[in-house]
Amino acid sequence: MTKTDKEFQPSLEIALQGALDHLDGLQPSSVAATKDLAALRQQLHKPLGDKPLPADQVICELIKDVEGGILGSAGGRFFAWVIGGSVPAALAADWLTSAWDQNAALYACSPAAAVVEEIVGVWLKDLLGLPPAASFALVTGCQMAHVTCLAAARHALLARRGWDVERNGLSGAPCVRILTSAMRHGSFLRAIRLLGLGESSVVQLPTDSEDRLQPDALREALATNKKAPTIVLLQAGDINIGAFDDFEALIPCAKQFDAWVHVDGAFGLWAAASSRYRHLMKGAAAANSWATDGHKWLNVPFDSGFAFVADSDSHQASMSHRAAYISHDAAARDQMDWNPEWSRRARGFATYAALRQLGRSGVTEIVDRCCHHARSLVARISTLPGAQLLWTPVINQGLVRFLDPNPAATNEDHDKRTEEVVSAILKTGEAFFGCSTWHGQRAMRISVCNWQTDESDVDRSVRAVELALSQFH
Ligand SMILES: *Cc1c(COP(=O)(O)O)cnc(C)c1O
Repeated sequence: MTKTDKEFQPSLEIALQGALDHLDGLQPSSVAATKDLAALRQQLHKPLGDKPLPADQVICELIKDVEGGILGSAGGRFFAWVIGGSVPAALAADWLTSAWDQNAALYACSPAAAVVEEIVGVWLKDLLGLPPAASFALVTGCQMAHVTCLAAARHALLARRGWDVERNGLSGAPCVRILTSAMRHGSFLRAIRLLGLGESSVVQLPTDSEDRLQPDALREALATNKKAPTIVLLQAGDINIGAFDDFEALIPCAKQFDAWVHVDGAFGLWAAASSRYRHLMKGAAAANSWATDGHKWLNVPFDSGFAFVADSDSHQASMSHRAAYISHDAAARDQMDWNPEWSRRARGFATYAALRQLGRSGVTEIVDRCCHHARSLVARISTLPGAQLLWTPVINQGLVRFLDPNPAATNEDHDKRTEEVVSAILKTGEAFFGCSTWHGQRAMRISVCNWQTDESDVDRSVRAVELALSQFH
């Protein structure tokens, strides 16, 4: 018996069986949690032992003790937030990533990981219609993609004004302002906080009836303080209705004023992979930077975001660091030159595997299929008694609301009814939706981005909404 047989095999075999059981169980099991906070604490909160335990026992108990607290978000009936699943090759590559346990900081500490990331970057730019010369980084998620892109923006805007931000920091620097709409995602605000730009640097501009930033408002704001270093944040798919800003009108205008245009396309950037939805991205390739996720629409396990920057010099200047003990290979890609982290997971393998499994047509198909199912869910739920259509999906995001039938019902009553119906749906365990506030009204959000969602999941989820609604009559 080798050391591997003895030390690793028992727990890895239990993990494999546990994973297969989980994936198998996604169809029959509740998609919502079945245990509450107190029960989960009781299951999991064991005394920290003094003595070691056998690894297989730890894994066995882990599988048992998380029971009731693992959502069915890997499966096809989960429509809350924007959460994808994992295609098989990506999941398997993610396991191997842990087994290989590479530090993907440098080519020197994982040559294969560095080469894989180099290739993944090229493939992604091609699929997403971004400039082939753009630099990129594989980060933990879209929020850190914002941080990465905006660090490059901060560098470029301040360097043009004679300020070295990497050396001098921000105190005493010209104030950077950020022009955007109310459709911005909270992760963008957290990114600018981390970069020291501060939330008060955001100027919120008005949108039109489809939640798109108004070009006149942008032009006017840019013209009022022409000299200020300016970042313009645009949306490629906002979280409520998947709104796309009019890149063709907005980007040339921002460029005229030397502003840096950043695009938040956490899921929406993937519209570029489909000929049906590509028009929404028209003109977006002219931006300065783009942030997106792999763990949403590409269906790669979590820990997968992508940052792209047109001005690769600024990107590298904002991230790169040299120290005597680090070895660099001039011909290879050292991820540390582009990533905010130092030591990190070799997360490129999972994306590499997903893209190879799916191919171009597979990615297109996931996008098209999710959009189709989103439209179908929204259309069918909207016809149920007490339901009201708020937004028909343009891509994969839609909104419905549930009305209190009382003729004297107020907006608040409808808000309350909407939340109650959503809770009742979760209680059925058959489908999982979330709530949001859109234009002052509570709404049920329907987001489809799991590769597994099929017609039968849609049927079953509509029936779950019907069942939940029947409890209110
Ligand atoms: C999910 C999301 C983000 C944040 O992405 P993370 O991967 O969670 O960091 C940003 N913007 C939009 C529009 C999103 O949907």
